[in-house]
Amino acid sequence: MSVPATPMMQQYLALKAEAGDCLLFYRMGDFFELFFDDAKKAAAVLDIALTSRGEHGGEPVPMCGVPVHSAEGYLARLIRAGCRVAIAEQVETPDEAKQRAKREGTPSSKALVARAIVRFVTAGTLTEEALLEPRRANMLAAVCEVRGAIGIAACDISTGRMELEECLPNALGAALARIGASEVVAPEGMDGAPLDAISRPRADFASAEGEARLKRVHGVATLEGMGSFSRAMLAAAGGLIAYLDHAGRGRLPLLLPPVVRSQASHLMMDEATRASLEITSAQGGGRAGSLLAEVDRCVTGAGARLLADDLSAPLAERPAIEERLALVAEIHRDPLLRADIRAHLRSIPDLGRALGRIVAGRGSPRDLGQLRDGLEEAGRLHSLLAARKDRPALLDTLLPALTGHGALTDLFARALVPSPPTERSQGGFIASGYDHALDELREMAGNARRAIAAMEARYRDETGIASLKIRHNGVLGYFIEVPSARADALMAPDAGFIHRQTMANVVRFNSLRLHEEATRIAEAGGRAQAAEEAHFEELVEHAIAARETIAATASALARLDVAAALAERAAEGGWTRPHIVDEPVLTITGGRHPVVEAALAKTGVRFVANDCNLVPDDRLWLVGGPNMGGKSTFLRQNALIVLLAQAGSFVPADSATVGLVDRLFSRVGAADNLARGRSTFMVEMVETAAILAQAGPRSFVILDEVGRGTSTYDGLAIAWAVAEAIHETNRSRCLFATHYHEMARLAESCPALSLHHVRASEWKGELVLLHEVARGPADRSYGLAVARLAGVPPAVVARAKAVLARLEKGRAETGGLAAGLGELPLFAAAAPAAEPPRDSLRDSLQELDVDALTPREALDMLYRLKAQA
Ligand code: ADP
Repeated sequence: MSVPATPMMQQYLALKAEAGDCLLFYRMGDFFELFFDDAKKAAAVLDIALTSRGEHGGEPVPMCGVPVHSAEGYLARLIRAGCRVAIAEQVETPDEAKQRAKREGTPSSKALVARAIVRFVTAGTLTEEALLEPRRANMLAAVCEVRGAIGIAACDISTGRMELEECLPNALGAALARIGASEVVAPEGMDGAPLDAISRPRADFASAEGEARLKRVHGVATLEGMGSFSRAMLAAAGGLIAYLDHAGRGRLPLLLPPVVRSQASHLMMDEATRASLEITSAQGGGRAGSLLAEVDRCVTGAGARLLADDLSAPLAERPAIEERLALVAEIHRDPLLRADIRAHLRSIPDLGRALGRIVAGRGSPRDLGQLRDGLEEAGRLHSLLAARKDRPALLDTLLPALTGHGALTDLFARALVPSPPTERSQGGFIASGYDHALDELREMAGNARRAIAAMEARYRDETGIASLKIRHNGVLGYFIEVPSARADALMAPDAGFIHRQTMANVVRFNSLRLHEEATRIAEAGGRAQAAEEAHFEELVEHAIAARETIAATASALARLDVAAALAERAAEGGWTRPHIVDEPVLTITGGRHPVVEAALAKTGVRFVANDCNLVPDDRLWLVGGPNMGGKSTFLRQNALIVLLAQAGSFVPADSATVGLVDRLFSRVGAADNLARGRSTFMVEMVETAAILAQAGPRSFVILDEVGRGTSTYDGLAIAWAVAEAIHETNRSRCLFATHYHEMARLAESCPALSLHHVRASEWKGELVLLHEVARGPADRSYGLAVARLAGVPPAVVARAKAVLARLEKGRAETGGLAAGLGELPLFAAAAPAAEPPRDSLRDSLQELDVDALTPREALDMLYRLKAQA
């Protein structure tokens, strides 16, 4: 028979049931303890000792623990390892527990301190400075589907920023890739929900309830003033707020009025494009080596976060882009202004996050001090900028947000000491002169302390014991201490001292007068502390009341920081302001790849700048040439220039004219993607299919060795057909890198396609890669020269040479791999004119709504079609 669980174990198990799949931090005195599987998991992740405590069901209970005072660091590691944690605190003191036990009639020896889960700590719901990266937003997203439309609500609760968006089911992956959420929640059983999404009750995602929640959060009767939100957006917002409510156990973090993100006003990029362009993180996963890392010269965390957002979601509307560019240009033109702005910004603390902590109830006096300092500095920046004439429009929009906090900063300046502490329980953060009663209390305590010092001198005189001391400790409070040998004088009943404690060498006493003064200090201290607490709460209320204007200041500062940083980066790298035009062109002279250029510069190698000129009647460039010749670099640099330009940045080129791009696609042949597992060629084809389905005449596509992931014949055939389709049907601007010489024949049938190559030459038998893009077909492959360069043994290279000679002889005689391609009718003409014969495969294809497919569904569909064939 199993032994009944102890009361503590019962309490633990009940809390654990509530915590679900979160690790339960169970507070016991100065430790958070974990038990059972939680303990095993945490011990492994944290590399701490796994012990055991008592028994449950006849088995020892595994246990590990972390000290409360250093819990944050452990939490950070658990969260980073993908865990979620429920914090169960003691919600009464042992004394209260005993009283309660008495009332309830249980023996007080059995009294168990009540505990409750006070908070769930998850990757998306952090506000602690120590757990967040200053230069990275921490996004939480909620997704749901309402009648065929996907609603997405995303927020960064560390600053309160909230966005709503609606898209088709097949665009969910792309939207989530842009948001880069650290946590996603979705209704239970949602079709097509992201694999790692946390399931939440469906009821949380009812749109009417979502609307009601938004109204409650913002204290409004109607949402009309905030924008127009679709049912799907409201449903997602509801799910998000419900989850935050659950995680914070009823205390909501800072949530600013939601902003609708419209798909049409942004440059669309799917997940594969983002990954291949390494926008905010490099292939390896880290920030280093990404475009963001190379561009980011922001001096504030908030600026860096906004820049990441700008680069993740470049714009697609000319006026907004021009507005940003004009501000960058102004700051670029004037180095002194740039230095001034950046100097001001550098001393501004992270206002948004300080505000986030304050609203979440985890603010400290230091956070209030940061608001004061930051808002004051913003005011000074305002004076600097407002004095300028001919201000760019965007600056005029930002200026009002930098000022107008006078009343709040005055109050905080009067109320707070210059550098308030992070710890509020010790007091000492309210400035003297702010509250006379508090000053008096402090003075009383001070007087009493002085009185005690005087008392010490007097006692020395009176007793003649020069080594007599008045000291203080946590157990006795104030006491008089004399060496044991001299204690007798004080022991005398009429001496007026009360014996407290005899130690090895000293004896401790109290006295009536000392007691009186000590009581005075304690009382004044206690009341002073209570007064400071009350002031703190009051100041917090003021900050909360001003939260929207403070947040507006924070975001105006971030926008300024981004503009100044881009101007700085442009000046540093000799970047130029792009011309944005509506015609579908891309004309770049002296273009460079910012990341490759910077990497080469470290080794002292000069980057070779290259031109690109795509225009309507020459819009598809086939780029050939040897491996390592610079094809990928050329393709990507042009995509990055488009991206930077539309994000409102100067670009690494001598000049650039960028015709607005609506969708940007980047694909890399499968051989580069081996690490991704699964059938890489299948992935390559699914991703290519998405381009053919979505790219249009305003899109820009770069295709790097597409078709490489399969046999030569298949690969060439696919590359050929894809290039033809982009030329004939999608009509997008496109750079297509390929090593198939045979593709050159496409130029004969596709008038808007031209041939280019990266130059190379052989010098004294050595291959020299010039990294220069030139017009015309690549003359030869240099594959053997590359092999030699790579250290393949000379004998093997020689043998390969002989084999190649044979192959080339055969090709000359038969027409080779591309024999017969000359007679191939054009892609459009190849489409059968007559009604094709019906079959089930064709019917399935006909019924397919390609736009409505997620990549995963597309893959499943391909397998199904394949099975039918
Ligand atoms: P490919 O795609 O033709 O195989 P890559 O674009 O990957 O070649 O370039 C290979 C290497 O050549 C790069 O890592 C870089 O070091 C160098 N490289 C590429 N383009 C340039 C350039 N324009 N100037 C200088 N070096 C370059």
